[in-house]
Amino acid sequence: MRPPISLRSVPSPEDADYFPRLSPVATGFAGRCPRCGQGRLFKGFLTVAPACSSCGLDYSFIDSGDGPAVFVIMIVGFVVVGLALWVELAFSPPIWVHLALWLPLTVILALGLLRPFKGILVAMQYRHRAAEGVLVDDDDDEDGPRGT
Ligand SMILES: [Zn+2]
Repeated sequence: MRPPISLRSVPSPEDADYFPRLSPVATGFAGRCPRCGQGRLFKGFLTVAPACSSCGLDYSFIDSGDGPAVFVIMIVGFVVVGLALWVELAFSPPIWVHLALWLPLTVILALGLLRPFKGILVAMQYRHRAAEGVLVDDDDDEDGPRGT
C-alpha cells in the first residue's frame, strides 16, 4: 500500500515518516529518486523525469541551475591543469602531446561528472527542502495580499 504522501511540488516534511533518510551522494551518484532510492531520476542524459516511477515523487521542485556545471568546471579544471603542469615540468613534451592528452580527458571528465553531480545536487535540494523563496502574507487583514 502506498503511504498517504503528498505530491506537492515541494517535498513534504512528512516524507521522512514513510521513507528512510537516504544519502544524497549515494542516490545522486546512482541517478535514483532522492526520496525512495528506487525510481530513475533522469529520463535522458541530463533531463530530469517528470516524477519518480517508483514512489511518485513529483520532480517539478527540482532546480539545480548552474550548480553541477560549476562543480564540474572547478574539479575538472583543477585536475587537468594540475596534470598538464606536472607533465610539462617533468617531461617537457611537444604541444601536440598536451593537446592529445588534455582535450579528450577534459571532455571525458566533464561529461562523466555532470550527471552524478546533478543527481547529488538534486538529492541535496530534496534533503534540505530547498526551494525558490515565495512571499507569504501572514496578515489576516481584509485588504488581501499586499502588492501585486
Ligand atoms: Zn521515488
